[in-house]
Amino acid sequence: MKRTIKEEIVATCKRLYEHHLNGGYGGNVSVKDEGLIYITPSGMPKDTLEYSDIIVMDFKGNMLEGKGKPSSEMRFHLLIYKERPDVNAIIHAHPPIATGFSIARREIPIGIHEEATIVLGDVPVLPYAVTSSNELAEEVAGAIRKANAALLSNHGAITVGESLEQAFRRMEELENLCEMIMVANSVGEVHKIPEEKLNELVTLIKNRRKG
Ligand SMILES: [Zn+2]
Repeated sequence: MKRTIKEEIVATCKRLYEHHLNGGYGGNVSVKDEGLIYITPSGMPKDTLEYSDIIVMDFKGNMLEGKGKPSSEMRFHLLIYKERPDVNAIIHAHPPIATGFSIARREIPIGIHEEATIVLGDVPVLPYAVTSSNELAEEVAGAIRKANAALLSNHGAITVGESLEQAFRRMEELENLCEMIMVANSVGEVHKIPEEKLNELVTLIKNRRKG
């Protein structure tokens, strides 16, 4: 198994903690590589993990390497990888401002901020489901079929990406966006980018991706 992937997961967990995007015990991070899933263990602080703590599993759920138990939220990681072949990395975290939005059930449509529209797209809020349950796994996988980020009610956030770096940048952007909305609400009200300009922006993004 690849030590570099395990080290990348450990570094991402530290980065999430240092950027105030996750507390010590919350959240989980995984990477898909050559038919295997590398995932953080359950019940250990994520900011002090070592590469040897990372668990490697196959898609049937068999543990191949690592100590302890895989993350209790492994179900939604498995389901997402099955349903989104383009996704190679998943981050679930409890960023304080975005999690506040999940408690207030505030979904975040595209068109509030230019960069966030490009990086994130729509961010739905999922109905509340108990942590680690099948219901939560199905809700999350269902939302991620058509989104790259989602809020889990009274719980936290999830982002996916083609790489761990992209999933991390999306989590960072989501937290920043929630902070911007909070500030906008405190000094005035939220105005979206006008519809016709938003279409122009979306077309520009699509053309950039083709090019
Ligand atoms: Zn969680």
